[in-house]
Amino acid sequence: MITVRHLNKTFHDGQKPLTVLRDVNCEIRKGEVISIIGPSGTGKSTFLRCLNRLEEPTAGQIEIDGDDILAPDADVRRLRQKMGMVFQNFNLFEHLTIIDNITLAPRNLLGLSKADAEKRALELLEMVGLGEKAGSLPNELSGGQKQRVAIARCLAMNPQIILFDEPTSALDPTMVSEVLAVIRQLASQGMTMAIVSHEMQFVRDVSTRVFFMNDGIIYEEGTPEQIFDNPQKNATKSFINRIRTLEFRLKDRHFDLYDMFGQVQRFCSKYGLGEKIFGKIQHVIEEMTSEIMPFDTAVSVVIDYSEKNGTLTMTFTQENYTAADGIIAGADADNVSLMLVGGLCSEMTEPVPGTVRILFNA
Ligand code: ADP
Ligand code: MG
Repeated sequence: MITVRHLNKTFHDGQKPLTVLRDVNCEIRKGEVISIIGPSGTGKSTFLRCLNRLEEPTAGQIEIDGDDILAPDADVRRLRQKMGMVFQNFNLFEHLTIIDNITLAPRNLLGLSKADAEKRALELLEMVGLGEKAGSLPNELSGGQKQRVAIARCLAMNPQIILFDEPTSALDPTMVSEVLAVIRQLASQGMTMAIVSHEMQFVRDVSTRVFFMNDGIIYEEGTPEQIFDNPQKNATKSFINRIRTLEFRLKDRHFDLYDMFGQVQRFCSKYGLGEKIFGKIQHVIEEMTSEIMPFDTAVSVVIDYSEKNGTLTMTFTQENYTAADGIIAGADADNVSLMLVGGLCSEMTEPVPGTVRILFNA
């Protein structure tokens, strides 16, 4: 249905040219639900906007049903009718009622009569659960309701494909699911869609294929299982697992413990780890650095938090560790510090002598 070859987009409006899409290649077939994920600033929005020519590509080809949409004589209006787009911020006309928002384009562009357009609009409003809001104004609706109206408005043009650009990221968290439910319903009806989203569970459930965009290309693509459970490339892995890392190198036992706690606290609050886990981390650091690690030379401490798995790992490494038996194995059986740390965490191991790994389920 859509074929993209060697798509490039370079912006020239800044001080120096900025290449956002370097070489994007893909095919989207009828009935597919493609999710596009990736770090922000990697060109996901630009890619969608190039597909319906809200943005002019710098180079490359885009074919839709065999028509070259970048040809000088391409009918951009007809193209946009085939491709609906739903934006982050709804883009409803604030001075028009909900039903007028929906009927405007079908009446003007498809030539539908007022009665036909309204009949269809009401059906669509019913479908998105808002049959009673036809006469309301947008500012009487919640964000989630506005976004459902925006979807109904898009459907009113009978598009062959709908492009969604982060449809839930401007919403209050309580309203995300009502919008995702509508998109899920469209997916189950076989609507062809391309969806940029950060809602990973949703992406996993709804997509036929996932594109991971990174650095201006489709860096890795696959089924949801391939991308989420078995990503092949490093950048995909770290994006999917969203591993957050905080590292320290402590030269000797007289390091600044309170500065370290401050950094750990900021790390915890940044990633939504509560006071309870922060308290445990503090205890573990105290015991490990005062009693357990030998500190013959420097000790490194790495804290990894995987948002996906909800696990937090602390790795303490004694640099230049030479003893063969290991820190845990070599300790006395009644070492109180070790018992304390063992009681705080869910698992404590020493994969190589001198490196102690402590795992929490956050
Ligand atoms: P994403 O949607 O993946 O977050 P975008 O496609 O919005 O990424 O943006 C990619 C990059 O292109 C960003 O660095 C952004 O600042 C830049 N960009 C987007 N639109 C324009 C524009 N109209 N002019 C100049 N730079 C732009
Ligand atoms: Mg974007």
